Amino acid sequence: MPAQLIDGVALSKSLRAEIGARAAALAGAGRRPGLAVILVGDDPASAVYVRNKVKACEECGFHSVLEKYEATLPEADLLARIAALNADPAIHGILVQMPVPRHIDPHKVIEAIATAKDVDGFSVHSAGSLMSGLPGLRPATPYGCMKLIESTGVALKGKRAVVIGRSNTVGKPMAMLLLQANATVTVCHSATPDIAAHTRHADVVVVAVGRRNTLTADMVKPGAVIIDVGMNRDDEGKLCGDVDFPALREALGDSGRITPVPGGVGPMTITMLLANTLQAAEVVR
Ligand code: NAP
Repeated sequence: MPAQLIDGVALSKSLRAEIGARAAALAGAGRRPGLAVILVGDDPASAVYVRNKVKACEECGFHSVLEKYEATLPEADLLARIAALNADPAIHGILVQMPVPRHIDPHKVIEAIATAKDVDGFSVHSAGSLMSGLPGLRPATPYGCMKLIESTGVALKGKRAVVIGRSNTVGKPMAMLLLQANATVTVCHSATPDIAAHTRHADVVVVAVGRRNTLTADMVKPGAVIIDVGMNRDDEGKLCGDVDFPALREALGDSGRITPVPGGVGPMTITMLLANTLQAAEVVR
């Protein structure tokens, strides 16, 4: 029997219903959660991402603002817009869609966003809070992965977890969240010589590389939980993840769990962005 699927669409739907109800309660108290999304340039993938984010906001009853600028926007103008949004009481979360054009320093942009409104959780302050175990806004993708693992009922305490990938936006915060949940965590990356030696003993594997078939059936143990963050295209141009899905699903057996791509991590990322914006609106005094 193949592993059970972890359904990110269904989990997102139930979480968004909860978020919508809490947003309505806040709106009733005169504090409708508000997200500002800034897009600089005309990258088509980025345009789709921001549209989906704004649409999700509207569906949950949030106030949302989408600001689009030409790719030539000077860095100083972008920083000035962020400063204005930092001071805007109707806005609780600010997101600048990455990547920004080359003449703009992404670090400066991220650090310009007020910590309380850093709903992407990418700033040094937010990363430091996560590292120190302090409250704060967590990066949406790893936060969503944690919710997906939680939904399986598998308790992380004492389990072996392997994260493949160490980006600041996915791999590293993922490892920190797993550590906080008392898993024993190993992080693999492009210089790890024998990744299978780690994953074969893992109870949970999170793959965030961006390369098809990074995790194959011979690299996992039966019964493991696999979270596939990757977004790639297969030979037919269809969306696929970082794992060899059909073979790996068989190898895990019926006690294993795996996220599909699409329909796993993707929908959860936007949901956790909404959760962060709601959280930011709820803590405003
Ligand atoms: P990234 O910044 O490019 O980082 C990729 C990581 O993978 C790096 O740490 C790199 O190691 C590691 N890596 C590369 N080749 C490897 C190999 N052969 N073996 C082991 N590790 C290897 O990517 P990212 O932003 O973290 O995203 C990863 C994937 O997740 C992408 O496909 C992205 O599209 C997807 N993603 C999906 C969502 C979603 O919502 N579904 C959100 C974010 C990202 P080094 O550090 O050593 O170079």
